Amino acid sequence: MKSDLENRELADLGEIDSETFRTWGHHIIDWIADYLDHPEKYPVLARVEPGAIRSQLAALPPDDPEPMSAIIDDVHKVIVPGLTHWNHPAFMAYFGTTGSAPGILGELFAAAFNVNAMLWKTSPAATELEELVLDWLRQMIGLPAGFSGIIYDTASVSTMHAIAAAREAVPGLNSRELGLSGRPDGARLRLYTSEQAHSSVEKGAITLGIGQAGVRKIPVDNEFRMQVGDLEQAIQDDLKIGWTPFCVVATVGTTSTTSIDPVPQIADICRKYNIWLHVDAAYGGAAAILPEMRWVLEGCDRADSLVVNPHKWIFTPMDLSAFYSRRMNVLKQAFSLVPEYLKTGQDASVHNLMDYGVQLGRRFRALKLWMIIRTYGRKGIAARIREQMRLAQMVSGWIDENPGFERLAPVKFSTVCFRALPGDGENADNLNERLLNAVNATGDVFLSHTRLRDKFTIRMAIGNIRTDEQVVRRAWHLVKTNLEQIRQISA
Ligand code: PLP
Repeated sequence: MKSDLENRELADLGEIDSETFRTWGHHIIDWIADYLDHPEKYPVLARVEPGAIRSQLAALPPDDPEPMSAIIDDVHKVIVPGLTHWNHPAFMAYFGTTGSAPGILGELFAAAFNVNAMLWKTSPAATELEELVLDWLRQMIGLPAGFSGIIYDTASVSTMHAIAAAREAVPGLNSRELGLSGRPDGARLRLYTSEQAHSSVEKGAITLGIGQAGVRKIPVDNEFRMQVGDLEQAIQDDLKIGWTPFCVVATVGTTSTTSIDPVPQIADICRKYNIWLHVDAAYGGAAAILPEMRWVLEGCDRADSLVVNPHKWIFTPMDLSAFYSRRMNVLKQAFSLVPEYLKTGQDASVHNLMDYGVQLGRRFRALKLWMIIRTYGRKGIAARIREQMRLAQMVSGWIDENPGFERLAPVKFSTVCFRALPGDGENADNLNERLLNAVNATGDVFLSHTRLRDKFTIRMAIGNIRTDEQVVRRAWHLVKTNLEQIRQISA
C-alpha cells in the first residue's frame, strides 16, 4: 500500500498542465514580439562584469518545483541584462545573425515536434524537408544540380567534415580503418588555405589528425586574396619532400575583410594535382542569391564541397550551416557506421542523414529555413541583402571622402574595414582601439576589430535584417563624434 504522501507525489508526475503552458506561451510570444519591435531599447553590448550573472542565480538546483512566473521573472531580471543583443539593429560586429520572425516560429515548431532526424524513418518529414530546402538554397545561389547536401550546426563543423571527406578521398590512405597515428608509412597530409582563412580550417585539421603542421597558409595579394602562384609552388615543393597535398580550402568572403579567393584558378590547380577543393562561403555565399552577385561563386561548380551559412546572412537564427558536395558518397564512405539497432527497411531507398557525419542525433533545422524562404521569398531575401550592400557602400564612400579616416580593404559585400588616421604624436593602434571601445561603450552600436597588415582595424559588418540607413548613419556619427571626444580629452 502506498502512503497518502506517495500517492500525492505520483499524481504530480508527468507534464505541466496545458493551461499553464498556453498561458506562458502566449506571454512569451507577446514579450518576444515587443522585444523584436524594439531591441534598441537595450544596450547592444551587455554591460556586466564577468561572474555577474551566475552570482545572481541559485548555485544549487531546486529540490522542489518552482512556478513558471518565478523562472520567467529571472529571465527578465537576470538573463536579459546579461545578453549582448544580436537582434539589435546596430549590432555590426563580427558577422551579424538575425533572429527573424519566421525563423523563431520555425524553431518553436522544431522544439515542439522534438524529432530526431538521424534516420529517414525517425522522421521522414525532417529528412525530406532538409533535402528539399537545401535544394532550394542550391538553386538560389546557382550551384549546379550535381550538388546535394546536409545541414550541420556551424560552418566550422561543415568544414571539418569537408576535410574528413578530402582525407577519405586520398588514394590508398585508408585513414578510416588505419587511422593516422602510429602508421609505419608516416602519412604526411598537407592542406592549403590562405593566411586570411577562418580559424575553423585549422581547427578541422587539428581535429582530424592533420595537425597544424599539416596546414600551409598561402600568402594573399593586396586585396587579401589567396595568391595562386604561391599555392602551386607550395604544392610542388611539398610533393618534392614527400608530403601528400590533399585539400585546398578557398574562401568566398573571408572573415576579416570579406575578400574573395580566385576560385576558378584554384579549381584548375586542384584538378591538376587531384586535390579536394572545399570552398568556405559561410558569409559570402549568401550574396550569390542576387543575380548580379552570382559571380562570387564563379568556379565553385568545380569545387568538391562548399559551405554557406544561412545563420549568417540569410536571416536564420543560430544555428544552421548548409554543406554541399558533388561527392556525398565520399562523405558517407568516411562516416557511415550502422549498428544493428539503426538498420531500417528503407535503407536502400532513402538517405539516412546520420551516415554523413559524426553526429547521430540531429535537430530539425530545415524547418526554420523553409519557413524563412517562404516568408520572404527569394526576391525578398535578395532585396534585403542588396540593401545591406548599398549601406556598406555608403559607409565606404563616407570614409573615402573623409581625410581623417582610411579604408583598409575593398568592400565586396556588406562589411567595411577602416581606421582613423593618427594625428601628430598619436599612435594609430592605440587611437583606434580607444575609439572602438568608446563607440561600443555608448551601448548604441557594437563594432568589432581585426588586424590588417599589422594595423588595428575597425570592422563595421551590416547583416541584421533590422539594420536600416538611419541606424548606419547614426553608427558613423558615433564614430566621428567619439573620435573628436577622445582628441579633446587627450589635448
Ligand atoms: N568561415 C568564415 C568565413 C567565417 O567568417 C566564420 C565565422 O564568422 C566561420 C567560417 C565559422 O562559422 P561558424 O560560427 O558557423 O562555425
